[in-house]
Formats: sequence, structure tokens, C-alpha cells
Amino acid sequence: MSAHGLMFHHFHDNNIHVRGQGSLDLETFEKIIKSFNPEGYLSPAEWVKAVEERALKPHHWCITFDDALRCQYDVALPVLDKLGFKAFWFIYTSIYEGHQERLEIYRHFINKTFPHINDFYEAFFRKVDLDSRLKDVDIANYLSAHPFYSYNDRKYRFIRNNLLSTDQYNLVMEAFLQKYGYDIAENLPLLWMSRDQIRLLAEQDHMIGVHSHTHPYELKNLPASEQRAEYVKNFTMLTEIIQQKPICGAHPCDSFNQDTLVILKDLGIRIMFRSNMSNADHYTQFELPREDHSNILRNLKS
Ligand SMILES: [Zn+2]
Repeated sequence: MSAHGLMFHHFHDNNIHVRGQGSLDLETFEKIIKSFNPEGYLSPAEWVKAVEERALKPHHWCITFDDALRCQYDVALPVLDKLGFKAFWFIYTSIYEGHQERLEIYRHFINKTFPHINDFYEAFFRKVDLDSRLKDVDIANYLSAHPFYSYNDRKYRFIRNNLLSTDQYNLVMEAFLQKYGYDIAENLPLLWMSRDQIRLLAEQDHMIGVHSHTHPYELKNLPASEQRAEYVKNFTMLTEIIQQKPICGAHPCDSFNQDTLVILKDLGIRIMFRSNMSNADHYTQFELPREDHSNILRNLKS
């Protein structure tokens, strides 16, 4: 095993954060953290120093959270506090300008409204009525890089990614929100951390890092000028929130190219994480490896 970050996204509790696909409860989170050699743990400041001094050892690891999710603050942070650990938090900022990021809202709506994800899938398939166009599609082998997707996961993603435009997909989902009485304004504070919570993290020796402004799926396909706008905006807003300049970050959806790295260096960013282990044996300062918690959990169980 080589040095790497542990990457976390969604958490649930029995209170305000509903369970969803891949979400962790606090017990499981604690079990994952405790499964790593405590001697290898590095705080964010120690991690940055070790990277820059080329002193990372194979047993070194650190903790990272992506996307400014409120469930991380409510469920995972108390565990970190109990164990005395600090983490990196990578924050995209469009949500702090009033942008309502649909992917996160729809995920929450589905988890909150339907007893099982398959109940949602059935309602969705009925609504879009596209089975006739799936006759010759090999759904079972769609997205085969994700072995844990169910047949319905694959079918849903195939329809969303290939048969519907973004606008058509959003229309279907907005109609569902209406039909089931999901109030976006009421639920928004449950989805993302507040500016104050981000500031508090920074004050408590956690490290806040860049993650682009709007979190594009394919940042690397944007022209350099748009990539620069993404990161300058994100960097400026984070600087304003935490009253200091970020020095680290994570590539959103693991997407970057040489232009991105130049832009990040221009901003004074010193280290960046990827979101997989693909280059774990030959990483660079701007492509540090991370393991997704679902993979860690699967290895724990097997
Ligand atoms: Zn992200």
C-alpha cells in the first residue's frame, strides 16, 4: 500500500440525514478510521509538509471530505473530535451564491421520499416510458467499471445519460419534486454546510481546500480561461470565508489537465488530490492518490 488520502462523501444518522446509496453511519465511519495504523495518520498540516519534503511513507494516510456536505459536519466531525483527528475539506462554492446544485437535491429527495431506491426507479421508468428504446441495449454491461451497480442503477443511468437531455431529465425530476411535495428551500440547509461551519473548521486546525466553483463533471474539457474562472472564483470565495488563502485542493470528478495545474500553481496551491488510486505508485504533488470509502469498506468486509 502507498501513502494516500481516505475520501469520504455522504453520511446518515437516525435523525436529520437520511440513508442513501453508499452513505455511512458514525459507527462504520469510526470503524474505517480505526482500521488504519494510527502511527501512519498525518494531520493536514503534517501531510502538506511531508509531501513537500518528499517524506511521505507508504503507511501514511490522511482524511478528506468532498463537496461541503452538511452530513459530514454533523455525523463525521464528532467522531474526528473524539479521536483527536483533523481532516481536509474540499469545498465548491457556487452553493454559497444561491446556486441549487441539482444532483445533491435529487439524491436527497429520492432518499427521503422512497423507502427503497427501486421504488424510485420504478416510478421513474414508468414516467419516462422509454423501455421501447432499450430493447437492443446491453444494460447489464453498461458502466461495467462499477461492479456494485444493480441492474436498475445501470438502466437509470443509461436513460439519464443517453436518452434524455439535461433539460428533459430535470423536467422529469422537478415534476416528481412537485408531486411528492418536496420543498427545496426547506431542505437546502440540510444539504450543505454553512459558511460559518466552514470557518469554524478552519479555526479548529482542519484544512479547507479548493474544489472549483461549480463542480463541472469534465473540468478538463473547458477552455483554460473557463478553468481559471472556476478556480479564481472558488479560491476568492474560500479566502473570504476562512480569512486565509487555501493551499490545497481536490480535482472535482478527478478532472484536470496541464492548464489546470498551471492555474492552481498561479493561485499558490501547493498540493492537490485525485479521487482514485490510479497513480498511487508514481504520484506527484498535484495528483495525490485517494481511496474511496466504498472500496475501503469492501476490503474491510472481505
Ligand atoms: Zn466533489
